[in-house]
Amino acid sequence: MNIILLGAPGAGKGTQASMLAEKYNLLHISTGDIFRANIKGGTEIGKLAKSYMDAGLLVPDSVTCDIVKDRLTWEDAQHGYMLDGFPRNLYQAGELDKFATVDLCLNIDVDVNLLMDRICGRRVCACGESYHVSTLNGKTTCAKCGGELYRRADDNPETVKARLNTYFEQTAPLIDYYKKQGKLLTVRGGKGSPNEVFAQICVELDKRI
Ligand code: AMP
Repeated sequence: MNIILLGAPGAGKGTQASMLAEKYNLLHISTGDIFRANIKGGTEIGKLAKSYMDAGLLVPDSVTCDIVKDRLTWEDAQHGYMLDGFPRNLYQAGELDKFATVDLCLNIDVDVNLLMDRICGRRVCACGESYHVSTLNGKTTCAKCGGELYRRADDNPETVKARLNTYFEQTAPLIDYYKKQGKLLTVRGGKGSPNEVFAQICVELDKRI
């Protein structure tokens, strides 16, 4: 099964993707993670992506679509995957339809008022775990692997505002795009813990798998 994860920044896409990947044995592909790895590695793609990411804007479609198109040809992507952060606009969705089959679009719907606090308080670990600073009680390391926690470069109020604008202008129209195709599954992500949201998703997914 090939799933697209849709949701505003801070909706919990990454957290749910990690749990779903484990339970349903699906490959988790995050375009944001691919860009961050390129920035860390000092590649040309990383240099280009950084300027857009720092401004809360989308990296150009041509670059992003080529990366995903290539990634989906790898052997490990032939048995089902979750795309986290792609597509991010209608053009990317149209391109994706040319080189992949989308079975389901899982939309995590969170009240916009919660998002700013969630993202600005987010601390992440290189292993993929993510926390909210209010639950850490001063701890600075990951409970799962012991790695040092850090704040993503684009998780600051100014960039977050721009990312939210980008989401509502360019990405939110995808909800209708997948609804029209009969592929949309929306879950409420704002209330309840990540485990509760996960349980909601599993109930729905189990009906479709
Ligand atoms: P994320 O980790 O999904 O929040 O993505 C972080 C940043 O990476 C975004 O704010 C964009 O600048 C860039 N990015 C990630 N996915 C895409 C995409 N599909 N298209 C364009 N830019 C993207």
